Amino acid sequence: MQPSKHNILTQVAGSESWLLVNLLAGQADLLDADTAARFQRGELLDPEAFAAKGYLVEPAEEARRYAAAKEKFAEGQKDDEVQLFFVPSYACNFGCSYCFQDEYAPQKTHDPDAVIDAFFSYVDDTFAGRRKYVTLFGGEPLLDTPKNRHVVEKLIEGTKARGLDLAIITNGYSLESYVPLLQTGRIREVQVTLDGPRAMHDQRRSLKGGGPTFDRVVEGINAALEGGLTVNLRAVLDKENLGGFGELAHFAIAQGWTENRRFKTQVGRNYELHHCQTNNTRLYTRLSLWEDMYELIQADPEILRFYRPAYSVSRFLFDEGQLPEPLFDSCPATKTEWAFDATGSIYPCTANVGKDAEEIGTFFPTRTLKADEVSDWSGRDVTSISSCSSCSNQLACGGGCGAVSRSWKGTIRASDCRPVKELLGMGCALYGQREL
Ligand code: SF4
Ligand code: SF4
Repeated sequence: MQPSKHNILTQVAGSESWLLVNLLAGQADLLDADTAARFQRGELLDPEAFAAKGYLVEPAEEARRYAAAKEKFAEGQKDDEVQLFFVPSYACNFGCSYCFQDEYAPQKTHDPDAVIDAFFSYVDDTFAGRRKYVTLFGGEPLLDTPKNRHVVEKLIEGTKARGLDLAIITNGYSLESYVPLLQTGRIREVQVTLDGPRAMHDQRRSLKGGGPTFDRVVEGINAALEGGLTVNLRAVLDKENLGGFGELAHFAIAQGWTENRRFKTQVGRNYELHHCQTNNTRLYTRLSLWEDMYELIQADPEILRFYRPAYSVSRFLFDEGQLPEPLFDSCPATKTEWAFDATGSIYPCTANVGKDAEEIGTFFPTRTLKADEVSDWSGRDVTSISSCSSCSNQLACGGGCGAVSRSWKGTIRASDCRPVKELLGMGCALYGQREL
C-alpha cells in the first residue's frame, strides 16, 4: 500500500484543520493537525481506514480505476451538450479598457444572410445527433441598427426551427430595445457585464469615444428580467475594480435581482491572453484574485447572496455533500465548444475566435477543416500533457486552458495550472460549515 497519486492535502484557511481530497476515490475528509502531519510522514495510526477510503492504494489497482474513470469521462464528453458560438461582426459601440479584440484587423465581409444560412446548414450536417445550443457573441451583437436586428431575427428563426436554445452575450447597452424580439425566441440566457458600481463601471466600460453606460445596462437587465428572460450578470475583475465588487453585490441585492430565479452571476478574471494590455500591473494571477475575493467575502459575507465562487471543487463539495466526477479535461475547445464568424471561418473556441492564424477551418463559402489542428485540440487532456500526468491536482484542475497554454508556452499541449490546494483551503473555510 502507498499513498494515492491523487491525494490533495491542504490546510483549511485560518484554521488548524486540514482537508484531504481524492477525486479518483470520490473521498474528502477533514483531518486534525496531528493526523495530517502523520499522514504526510506516512505514520498513520489507522492505515486501514485510509486504505478503505482510497487514500492508500495498491498502485496497479489504482491505475485500473484511473483508466476506467478516464473512459467514463470520455464517454460522457461525447454526450455533452455542444456550445456553438456565432459572431456576426466584431463591431462594438463600447471602448472597454481591457478589450482583447481591440487589435483585430477589419474583416472581409460576406452577405450576412448567406453566411447565417451556411452556418445553420453546417451545424445540421456536422453536429447532427448531438445536443447543442447556439450563443450569439461579438463584438456587440445587439447594436441598435436594422442590420443587427435582422441578424438576431434570423438567428432566432434558425434556432427555433431546429428546437435549439439561443444564448446572447451582450454589453447590454441596447438590451431593453431588444427584449420584445428576444421574447419571441428560445433564449437560454442573456449574459450582460457590469464591472462595478456606476462610476467604476463607466470608467472601465464607456462608449467608444467616451460616455457612460451603467444606467442603460441596468435598464436593460431590469427589462430583460421583467420580460421573463434569464440574465447572467458577469463582472470582469482586476485590481482596479475588485474593491467595488461588494458595492455591486449590494446594488444587485437592492434591485431585487438576487431574489429572481432567472438571475445568475459569474466572474471573469481580466487576464492577458493575446496581447499586452496597456496597464498589466492591474491584472490578478489565478491565485491572487481569489485570495482578495476571499478577504472581501470575509469582511462582507452578504456578497455570497450575489456570487458564490467555486474555489476549485469546494463549493460543489459542501453544496452537494459529495465530490464532482474526476475532471480529466477542463478545455472544451473542439470537444464541446466551437466558434464561427461572419468571415466564414471556424475557430476552436471563443478565446481565439477572430484571431489571425487561429482558424481551424471554414464553413463559407466552402467547407474546409484542418484535421491535424482539430486533433491537437481535441486530444488535449491531463494525460496528454506531461507535467499534468504526474500532478496530484490533475483531477480537480483538468489541465487549464489550451489557448492560454499556446499563448504563453507556444503549444496547446502545455499546462495552465490552477492553484488547486490554495483554492480548496479557502473554499473549505468559506463553505465548510458542516461535517463532511
Ligand atoms: S482554449 Fe481556453 S478559453 Fe478556449 S475552450 Fe479551452 S479553456 Fe476555454
Ligand atoms: S495544469 Fe498544472 S495544476 Fe493543472 S493538472 Fe496540469 S500540472 Fe497540475
